Amino acid sequence: MNSSSQPSNSSNIDAISEIKSRLDIVEVVSEHLVLKKSGRNHWGLCPFHKEKTPSFSVSQDKGIFKCFGCGEGGDSISFLMKVNNHSFFEVITELAQKFGIPLHSGGYSTEKQELKQQIYLLNESAVDFFHNNFYESKDAKNARDYLLKRGITEQIINEFELGFAPKQSDALTNYLIDNFQTNYDVLEKAGLSLKRTSGPGYTDRFKNRIIIPIRDEKGNYIAFGARLLGDNGPKYLNSPDTPVFNKSRNLFALYQAKDSIKESDSAIFMEGYFDVITAHASGLKNVVATLGTAMSESHLRLISKFTYSKKIFLAFDMDAAGINATDRGAEVIKSAFSGLGEVKQFDGSIADTFADNNKPVCEIRVVNIPTGKDPDEFIRTEGLDAYNNLINNAPLLIDYQINRIIDSKGEIKSPQQKSKMVKTLIPVLCEVKNTIVRNEYIKILSERLEVDEESFNIEVKKNLQRSQIKDRTPVQIGKSIKRHLLAQKNLLSLYFIKSDNLSCLAINNFLKEVNFTDSDYLFIKKEIENIIQELGNNADISQELLIKIVSNEDLKKKVVDIMFSLDDKINMNEKQLRQYVDENILCINQYVALEEQKKLKSDYRSADDDDLSSLQLQYKVRELVQARLEKINGKKNEE
Ligand SMILES: [Zn+2]
Repeated sequence: MNSSSQPSNSSNIDAISEIKSRLDIVEVVSEHLVLKKSGRNHWGLCPFHKEKTPSFSVSQDKGIFKCFGCGEGGDSISFLMKVNNHSFFEVITELAQKFGIPLHSGGYSTEKQELKQQIYLLNESAVDFFHNNFYESKDAKNARDYLLKRGITEQIINEFELGFAPKQSDALTNYLIDNFQTNYDVLEKAGLSLKRTSGPGYTDRFKNRIIIPIRDEKGNYIAFGARLLGDNGPKYLNSPDTPVFNKSRNLFALYQAKDSIKESDSAIFMEGYFDVITAHASGLKNVVATLGTAMSESHLRLISKFTYSKKIFLAFDMDAAGINATDRGAEVIKSAFSGLGEVKQFDGSIADTFADNNKPVCEIRVVNIPTGKDPDEFIRTEGLDAYNNLINNAPLLIDYQINRIIDSKGEIKSPQQKSKMVKTLIPVLCEVKNTIVRNEYIKILSERLEVDEESFNIEVKKNLQRSQIKDRTPVQIGKSIKRHLLAQKNLLSLYFIKSDNLSCLAINNFLKEVNFTDSDYLFIKKEIENIIQELGNNADISQELLIKIVSNEDLKKKVVDIMFSLDDKINMNEKQLRQYVDENILCINQYVALEEQKKLKSDYRSADDDDLSSLQLQYKVRELVQARLEKINGKKNEE
C-alpha cells in the first residue's frame, strides 16, 4: 500500500462514521471467536492471549470489546486491525469497499485489495462461462445426464449455478484473456489457470468436469469445486487457496443456507457437494459442507453467528471415514466452545430443571443413517420425510458415543468384558460436567450393562480427580493501577452512564474542579466537553468520542477501559453519586498535593543555605505545604 498518499482522517470522517455505524461488534468478533451472551455483555475466549476461561467481553450497544486478561480493547475497527494484523487504513479501505462507501483520494486503495476485486470479477465471469457452457455445449451432454440421473432439477442447477468445464484445455483461459482486461499472472493467482508443464503458455485448471461454484457468506464467488466426468484424474478437484479463498475458513452453501440456519436455529454438516445440493433440492436448506477439509474452529465460528442455540447436526456418511469425521468434528466443536459453557449432554426432564444461565452453550447431534448410505443417496431413495425423521430422532453426541461403544462390542457376558467396557465408557462420562446428569448416565448404564452402580461411580470419580489436577491453571493476577489514575478513570466513566436523572451537563458540573493529571484523561475530558457543547445534553458520547479518536488505538483502549468500568455505578442514587464523586476528587487532590510537596521538598534541599533570600523562600515553602496538608486533612475529617 502506498502510505505516502494516505489522506487525512478528517476528509473521510463521514465515511468512517458511516462504516462504523454499519458494523455490529458482535457480528465482527463472532467471525473470529465464539461468543456467548451473559448478562449485558457477550463473552468469549480471547484471541490475543491464551486462556481457558473467557475474559474477553463484548458490549454490543457500545460497540466495544475488552479483554480482562491481557487488557486489549477497542472498537470493531481496532479488533479487525489486531486480529488480521492490518493497519487502520487497510481495515477502513476493505470495509469501505465491502459496504460500497466512497473514500476521498486513492490513497486508501491497496494492491492486495485490487487483486481481490479482480479475482472476484474473474470468478464471476467464469461462473457465467461454465454455466452457459453447461446448457449449450455438446460436450456437456454427459454432465446434463449425470445431474438428471441424480434428480437435480433445472431450478437447483440454476440456484447453485452449476456449470461444465469444456474438454478443450484452454477454453476458459482464452475466454477471460480475450474478453476482460486481465493477464495470465492474475488468472494463475485466481486459481483458474495453470502454467503448462510442457511447452509455453497456460492451460485451464478444470477440464471436462461438472463445476460447482463456491461463494462466501456474502455471495462473492471465491472458488470452484469440480467433479470428474470421465475417468482421468481425481474424482473431485477444488480451487487452491487464493487471495480470496481459504478452504478451512469457508463452507460450501453457507450463502444459500444461512437464512434457513437462522430460521431453524440449527445447522447440518454433510460431507460432499452433492449431499448438500440434493438436500437443498429436496427442500432441506440449513445444510452446509466443509470444502474437502476436516471441520475447523473457523467453520464453527461461521456457523454460530447464525444459530443462537448453536444446534449442530453432524450428518456424515456412516462408513469408517465418516465415523472418523464425526469424532473429529465433535472434538473441534467441543474445543471451540470450551470455557463458554457445557455442551448439551442430556435430553429430557433433568436438563429442563437447570436454571436459565446453565443452559448448554451448544448442542451436538449425530444423524445416523441406518442403511449405510450417504445422505444424498438416502434422500433420493427414501425421501425427505424419512430423512427429517432421522434428524428429529438424532441422538445427542454423548448418547451416540455411548451407543457406539456398547454396540461395537457385541454381546457382553464375562466380568472381564464388562470391566473393559466400563473402562472405555469412563472418559466419555467424565466429560459430563453436571453431577446430576453424570450420575443419571451411570445409573442407566449400570442397569443396561448389569454392573454395580456404586463401583462404576467410584471409577468415574477417580478418573475425574485425575483430569482435574491436569486441568488446573494458574490464577490470573490483575494489573494494579495507581489509585489517583483509577479515580480519574472512575470520574470520566460517569459520562457513559445512560440515566434519566444524570445528564451530561450535571456531570460536567460535578467534574468542574477535577485536576486531571493524566494527559490522555485530560484530552478525553476535553473531547467529551466539545461533544456536549456541539451536540447538547443528549449526545451519544460513546459513539461520538470513538469516532473522534478512531485511528488512535492507545486512546481507544483507554476509552474502552473507562466504558467497561461502569457496572457498579449504574444503580447509584444521587446522594451516592455525589459521595462517589467527592471521594474520587479527594483521592486525586491528595495525590496532587503530595506530588507538590515532594517537589517543594526537593527544591528546598537543593537550595543554597547561605543565601538569605533562598532561606526566606524555604520558610515560605514550608508554610505553604503545612497549610495545604491541613486543608486536605481537615476536609477528610469532615466526611
Ligand atoms: Zn486477552
